[in-house]
Amino acid sequence: MNVLIVHAHPEAKSFNTALMTLAQAHFLEAGHTVVVSDLYAMNWNPVASAADFTQRKSPDYLVYALEQRHNYEQQAIAPDIAVELDKLKAADLVIFNFPLYWFSVPAILKGWIDRVLISGVCYGGMRFYDQGGLKGKKALVTLTLGGREHMFGENAIHGELVDGMLRPLLRGTLAYVGLEVLPPFIGYHVPYIKPEAREQVLLDYKSYLANLDELTPLRYPHMDEFDGKLYPKG
Ligand code: FAD
Repeated sequence: MNVLIVHAHPEAKSFNTALMTLAQAHFLEAGHTVVVSDLYAMNWNPVASAADFTQRKSPDYLVYALEQRHNYEQQAIAPDIAVELDKLKAADLVIFNFPLYWFSVPAILKGWIDRVLISGVCYGGMRFYDQGGLKGKKALVTLTLGGREHMFGENAIHGELVDGMLRPLLRGTLAYVGLEVLPPFIGYHVPYIKPEAREQVLLDYKSYLANLDELTPLRYPHMDEFDGKLYPKG
Protein backbone atom coordinates (compact mmCIF):
# COMPACT_ATOMS: atom_id res chain seq x y z
CA MET A 1 0.00 0.00 0.00
CA ASN A 2 1.15 3.55 -0.73
CA VAL A 3 0.52 6.02 2.08
CA LEU A 4 0.69 9.78 1.64
CA ILE A 5 0.78 11.87 4.82
CA VAL A 6 0.01 15.56 4.32
CA HIS A 7 1.33 17.18 7.47
CA ALA A 8 0.72 20.79 8.52
CA HIS A 9 2.37 21.81 11.79
CA PRO A 10 4.96 24.61 12.03
CA GLU A 11 6.96 22.98 14.88
CA ALA A 12 9.00 19.82 14.24
CA LYS A 13 9.04 18.97 17.98
CA SER A 14 5.28 19.38 18.43
CA PHE A 15 3.01 16.66 19.70
CA ASN A 16 1.11 16.84 16.43
CA THR A 17 4.33 16.10 14.53
CA ALA A 18 4.90 13.14 16.90
CA LEU A 19 1.58 11.70 15.68
CA MET A 20 2.73 12.11 12.09
CA THR A 21 6.07 10.42 12.83
CA LEU A 22 4.28 7.58 14.61
CA ALA A 23 2.08 6.94 11.57
CA GLN A 24 5.06 7.10 9.24
CA ALA A 25 6.95 4.51 11.34
CA HIS A 26 3.86 2.33 11.71
CA PHE A 27 3.28 1.99 7.97
CA LEU A 28 6.97 1.61 7.13
CA GLU A 29 7.30 -1.21 9.70
CA ALA A 30 4.28 -2.90 8.14
CA GLY A 31 6.10 -2.89 4.77
CA HIS A 32 4.15 -0.09 3.12
CA THR A 33 5.52 2.85 1.16
CA VAL A 34 5.16 6.19 2.93
CA VAL A 35 5.55 9.65 1.43
CA VAL A 36 5.27 12.70 3.69
CA SER A 37 4.38 16.15 2.43
CA ASP A 38 5.51 18.26 5.39
CA LEU A 39 3.97 21.52 4.22
CA TYR A 40 5.79 23.97 6.53
CA ALA A 41 9.14 22.21 5.96
CA MET A 42 8.49 22.40 2.19
CA ASN A 43 7.58 26.07 2.50
CA TRP A 44 4.45 25.15 0.56
CA ASN A 45 2.82 28.05 -1.25
CA PRO A 46 -0.87 28.00 -0.21
CA VAL A 47 -2.07 30.81 -2.48
CA ALA A 48 -4.18 29.74 -5.45
CA SER A 49 -3.46 32.30 -8.16
CA ALA A 50 -2.86 32.90 -11.86
CA ALA A 51 0.80 32.09 -11.25
CA ASP A 52 -0.23 28.41 -11.06
CA PHE A 53 -0.70 28.29 -14.83
CA THR A 54 1.77 28.81 -17.66
CA GLN A 55 -0.64 28.30 -20.58
CA ARG A 56 -3.79 30.30 -19.96
CA LYS A 57 -6.90 29.22 -21.85
CA SER A 58 -8.43 32.59 -21.02
CA PRO A 59 -5.64 35.16 -20.51
CA ASP A 60 -8.02 38.05 -19.76
CA TYR A 61 -10.20 36.59 -17.01
CA LEU A 62 -9.13 33.96 -14.50
CA VAL A 63 -11.52 31.09 -13.86
CA TYR A 64 -9.28 29.09 -11.56
CA ALA A 65 -10.98 25.69 -11.94
CA LEU A 66 -11.11 25.93 -15.74
CA GLU A 67 -7.42 26.81 -15.90
CA GLN A 68 -6.66 23.89 -13.55
CA ARG A 69 -8.30 21.53 -16.00
CA HIS A 70 -6.73 23.10 -19.10
CA ASN A 71 -3.22 23.46 -17.68
CA TYR A 72 -3.25 19.92 -16.32
CA GLU A 73 -4.14 18.62 -19.79
CA GLN A 74 -1.36 20.76 -21.32
CA GLN A 75 1.11 19.70 -18.59
CA ALA A 76 1.44 23.40 -17.86
CA ILE A 77 0.40 23.46 -14.22
CA ALA A 78 2.87 24.80 -11.61
CA PRO A 79 5.56 22.19 -10.84
CA ASP A 80 4.86 22.18 -7.06
CA ILE A 81 1.22 21.27 -7.75
CA ALA A 82 2.20 18.59 -10.30
CA VAL A 83 4.51 16.91 -7.75
CA GLU A 84 1.78 16.78 -5.09
CA LEU A 85 -0.76 15.53 -7.61
CA ASP A 86 1.54 12.66 -8.59
CA LYS A 87 1.91 11.72 -4.90
CA LEU A 88 -1.86 11.84 -4.50
CA LYS A 89 -2.54 9.71 -7.57
CA ALA A 90 -0.07 7.07 -6.35
CA ALA A 91 -1.56 6.92 -2.84
CA ASP A 92 -3.99 4.29 -1.56
CA LEU A 93 -4.39 6.04 1.80
CA VAL A 94 -4.02 9.77 2.42
CA ILE A 95 -3.60 10.95 6.01
CA PHE A 96 -4.19 14.62 6.79
CA ASN A 97 -2.32 15.40 10.02
CA PHE A 98 -2.78 18.87 11.52
CA PRO A 99 -3.70 20.95 14.58
CA LEU A 100 -7.22 22.35 14.47
CA TYR A 101 -7.17 26.08 13.68
CA TRP A 102 -10.48 27.92 14.11
CA PHE A 103 -12.64 24.81 13.65
CA SER A 104 -10.73 24.14 10.45
CA VAL A 105 -7.40 23.27 8.86
CA PRO A 106 -4.34 25.56 9.04
CA ALA A 107 -4.22 27.94 6.06
CA ILE A 108 -1.19 26.15 4.60
CA LEU A 109 -3.21 22.93 4.36
CA LYS A 110 -6.26 24.74 3.01
CA GLY A 111 -3.98 26.03 0.28
CA TRP A 112 -2.79 22.49 -0.49
CA ILE A 113 -6.42 21.46 -0.89
CA ASP A 114 -7.25 24.47 -3.08
CA ARG A 115 -4.27 23.99 -5.40
CA VAL A 116 -3.84 20.19 -5.53
CA LEU A 117 -7.39 18.82 -5.64
CA ILE A 118 -7.79 20.02 -9.17
CA SER A 119 -10.84 20.14 -11.37
CA GLY A 120 -10.80 17.58 -14.14
CA VAL A 121 -8.76 15.10 -12.13
CA CYS A 122 -10.21 14.97 -8.62
CA TYR A 123 -13.74 16.03 -9.55
CA GLY A 124 -15.67 17.53 -12.43
CA GLY A 125 -19.02 17.26 -14.22
CA MET A 126 -21.00 14.60 -12.40
CA ARG A 127 -17.85 13.04 -10.97
CA PHE A 128 -18.13 13.65 -7.27
CA TYR A 129 -18.91 11.77 -4.03
CA ASP A 130 -18.74 8.06 -4.82
CA GLN A 131 -18.01 8.90 -8.47
CA GLY A 132 -15.24 11.39 -7.59
CA GLY A 133 -11.89 11.27 -9.32
CA LEU A 134 -10.12 9.82 -6.27
CA LYS A 135 -12.50 6.93 -5.71
CA GLY A 136 -10.84 3.73 -4.54
CA LYS A 137 -8.54 5.63 -2.17
CA LYS A 138 -9.04 6.15 1.57
CA ALA A 139 -8.59 9.27 3.68
CA LEU A 140 -7.89 9.59 7.38
CA VAL A 141 -7.95 12.89 9.25
CA THR A 142 -5.72 12.98 12.33
CA LEU A 143 -5.92 16.16 14.34
CA THR A 144 -5.06 17.65 17.68
CA LEU A 145 -7.02 20.38 19.38
CA GLY A 146 -7.26 22.45 22.52
CA GLY A 147 -10.87 21.70 23.53
CA ARG A 148 -11.99 18.81 25.74
CA GLU A 149 -13.93 15.87 24.35
CA HIS A 150 -17.17 16.79 26.18
CA MET A 151 -17.21 20.17 24.41
CA PHE A 152 -18.09 18.46 21.12
CA GLY A 153 -21.35 16.64 20.40
CA GLU A 154 -25.02 17.23 19.71
CA ASN A 155 -25.80 19.48 22.67
CA ALA A 156 -22.23 20.38 23.53
CA ILE A 157 -20.88 23.91 23.56
CA HIS A 158 -19.04 23.63 20.23
CA GLY A 159 -21.68 21.40 18.58
CA GLU A 160 -21.36 18.28 16.47
CA LEU A 161 -17.89 17.35 15.34
CA VAL A 162 -18.01 14.96 12.36
CA ASP A 163 -21.25 16.35 10.85
CA GLY A 164 -20.68 19.87 12.14
CA MET A 165 -17.23 21.33 12.67
CA LEU A 166 -15.42 18.97 10.29
CA ARG A 167 -18.15 18.79 7.64
CA PRO A 168 -16.48 21.14 5.14
CA LEU A 169 -13.35 18.97 5.23
CA LEU A 170 -14.77 15.45 5.60
CA ARG A 171 -17.80 15.81 3.36
CA GLY A 172 -17.33 18.96 1.27
CA THR A 173 -13.75 18.11 0.34
CA LEU A 174 -12.58 14.55 0.97
CA ALA A 175 -15.82 12.66 0.31
CA TYR A 176 -16.62 15.05 -2.55
CA VAL A 177 -13.49 14.05 -4.50
CA GLY A 178 -14.37 10.38 -4.03
CA LEU A 179 -12.16 9.45 -1.09
CA GLU A 180 -13.52 6.85 1.31
CA VAL A 181 -13.40 8.83 4.56
CA LEU A 182 -12.49 6.95 7.74
CA PRO A 183 -13.65 8.22 11.15
CA PRO A 184 -11.11 10.87 12.23
CA PHE A 185 -8.60 10.32 15.03
CA ILE A 186 -8.65 13.21 17.48
CA GLY A 187 -6.23 14.15 20.25
CA TYR A 188 -8.27 16.32 22.62
CA HIS A 189 -6.98 19.04 24.96
CA VAL A 190 -3.42 18.23 23.93
CA PRO A 191 -1.53 21.26 25.32
CA TYR A 192 -3.17 21.00 28.76
CA ILE A 193 -3.13 17.31 29.65
CA LYS A 194 -0.40 15.58 31.65
CA PRO A 195 2.56 14.02 29.80
CA GLU A 196 1.23 10.52 30.67
CA ALA A 197 -2.10 11.38 29.06
CA ARG A 198 -0.30 12.49 25.92
CA GLU A 199 1.62 9.20 25.91
CA GLN A 200 -1.77 7.48 26.06
CA VAL A 201 -2.95 9.44 23.00
CA LEU A 202 0.08 8.13 21.12
CA LEU A 203 -0.70 4.56 22.23
CA ASP A 204 -4.34 5.00 21.22
CA TYR A 205 -3.26 6.24 17.80
CA LYS A 206 -0.96 3.25 17.37
CA SER A 207 -3.81 0.82 17.97
CA TYR A 208 -6.17 2.95 15.82
CA LEU A 209 -3.74 2.58 12.91
CA ALA A 210 -3.25 -1.14 13.57
CA ASN A 211 -7.02 -1.64 13.25
CA LEU A 212 -7.66 0.73 10.36
CA ASP A 213 -9.09 -2.04 8.17
CA GLU A 214 -11.80 -2.71 10.77
CA LEU A 215 -13.13 0.88 10.67
CA THR A 216 -16.40 1.56 8.89
CA PRO A 217 -16.01 4.55 6.55
CA LEU A 218 -18.35 7.49 7.11
CA ARG A 219 -21.54 7.41 5.03
CA TYR A 220 -21.83 10.08 2.35
CA PRO A 221 -24.16 10.44 -0.68
CA HIS A 222 -24.09 7.94 -3.52
CA MET A 223 -24.73 9.43 -6.93
CA ASP A 224 -27.17 6.67 -7.89
CA GLU A 225 -29.50 7.93 -5.14
CA PHE A 226 -29.96 11.17 -7.15
CA ASP A 227 -31.38 11.87 -10.60
CA GLY A 228 -29.69 13.65 -13.50
CA LYS A 229 -30.52 17.04 -11.98
CA LEU A 230 -29.30 15.89 -8.57
CA TYR A 231 -32.74 15.74 -6.96
CA PRO A 232 -33.07 12.76 -4.60
CA LYS A 233 -34.73 9.85 -6.42
CA GLY A 234 -38.32 9.18 -5.31
P1 FAD B 1 2.16 21.22 21.31
O1 FAD B 1 2.03 22.53 22.00
O2 FAD B 1 3.22 21.07 20.28
O3 FAD B 1 2.38 20.06 22.34
C1 FAD B 1 1.74 20.01 23.58
C2 FAD B 1 2.73 19.44 24.58
O4 FAD B 1 3.11 18.12 24.18
C3 FAD B 1 4.05 20.24 24.69
O5 FAD B 1 4.33 20.41 26.06
C4 FAD B 1 5.06 19.33 24.04
O6 FAD B 1 6.34 19.49 24.59
C5 FAD B 1 4.51 17.97 24.36
N1 FAD B 1 5.00 16.91 23.45
C6 FAD B 1 5.62 17.04 22.25
N2 FAD B 1 5.93 15.83 21.76
C7 FAD B 1 5.49 14.92 22.64
C8 FAD B 1 5.52 13.50 22.69
N3 FAD B 1 6.08 12.79 21.70
N4 FAD B 1 4.95 12.88 23.74
C9 FAD B 1 4.38 13.57 24.74
N5 FAD B 1 4.31 14.92 24.77
C10 FAD B 1 4.88 15.60 23.72
N6 FAD B 1 -8.27 24.40 19.46
C11 FAD B 1 -9.61 24.08 19.44
O7 FAD B 1 -10.04 23.22 20.20
N7 FAD B 1 -10.47 24.69 18.56
C12 FAD B 1 -10.04 25.64 17.68
O8 FAD B 1 -10.83 26.13 16.87
C13 FAD B 1 -8.65 26.01 17.71
N8 FAD B 1 -8.18 26.98 16.89
C14 FAD B 1 -6.88 27.35 16.96
C15 FAD B 1 -6.40 28.35 16.10
C16 FAD B 1 -5.08 28.71 16.13
C17 FAD B 1 -4.59 29.77 15.19
C18 FAD B 1 -4.18 28.09 17.04
C19 FAD B 1 -2.73 28.48 17.09
C20 FAD B 1 -4.63 27.09 17.88
C21 FAD B 1 -5.96 26.70 17.84
N9 FAD B 1 -6.46 25.68 18.67
C22 FAD B 1 -7.78 25.35 18.64
C23 FAD B 1 -5.56 24.90 19.53
C24 FAD B 1 -4.68 23.92 18.74
O9 FAD B 1 -5.47 23.07 17.91
C25 FAD B 1 -3.85 23.08 19.70
O10 FAD B 1 -3.05 23.96 20.44
C26 FAD B 1 -2.95 22.09 18.99
O11 FAD B 1 -3.70 21.17 18.24
C27 FAD B 1 -2.13 21.32 20.04
O12 FAD B 1 -1.29 20.39 19.41
P2 FAD B 1 0.29 20.72 19.23
O13 FAD B 1 0.93 19.56 18.59
O14 FAD B 1 0.45 22.03 18.56
O15 FAD B 1 0.72 20.84 20.74
